Amino acid sequence: IFITAEGPEGAGKTTVITMLAESLKADGYQVMYTREPGGIEIAEQIRSVILDTNNTSMDARTEALLYAAARRQHLVEKVIPAMEKGYIILCDRFIDSSLAYQGYARGLGMENVLTINQFAIENMMPSLTLYFDVESETGLARINQHKDREVNRLDLETLQFHHLVREGYHKLVQAYPDRIQVIDAGKSLEEVFSEAKKAVIKKISA
Ligand code: C5P
Ligand code: MG
Repeated sequence: IFITAEGPEGAGKTTVITMLAESLKADGYQVMYTREPGGIEIAEQIRSVILDTNNTSMDARTEALLYAAARRQHLVEKVIPAMEKGYIILCDRFIDSSLAYQGYARGLGMENVLTINQFAIENMMPSLTLYFDVESETGLARINQHKDREVNRLDLETLQFHHLVREGYHKLVQAYPDRIQVIDAGKSLEEVFSEAKKAVIKKISA
């Protein structure tokens, strides 16, 4: 089963789904945590091009195509083989990030970004998406406290951009209510973890 974690900066996706992976492993499930953009060598190389703070002249469509390319390689090389072995895949970001960031916030259009991503993923949509929702100000304050976090090109964006990302995610929640489960990530880590785990258990035992 393929499960993705989505949300704006500082929502706690990585922390919570890493905990979730450990907890599900302890329960006896075969679990694989992976992340986008990246997760395998070729995709990590593409990630470093996209997120390089020197690449300030990167065109928005180029960026969207690179994300889709990294997604494709990661899916084929890592996600699909693990699914075939029966793993629960917990993937940190996937197509909804592109729809919210490049489609909505960068203004390329969600439909356009969906089209290139459909080419990249064929029909491999996640069965469940955990959307960690947090106020932009709260999220950005959290990542600024997180000193050893790698700096990336997105750190140069304005607060307005981050507001648009969140608005984009809210549109996706409306468009895909059956797939996307909203989790209030403004709550404590314990509460967020417990809500996320409940949603995953419900999905895998359905
Ligand atoms: O998930 P993580 O924080 O590692 O993502 C790295 C960066 O890539 C973030 O700043 C995120 O906003 C950005 N990103 C993006 N568009 C995507 C996926 C990630 O701008 N489609
Ligand atoms: Mg993260």
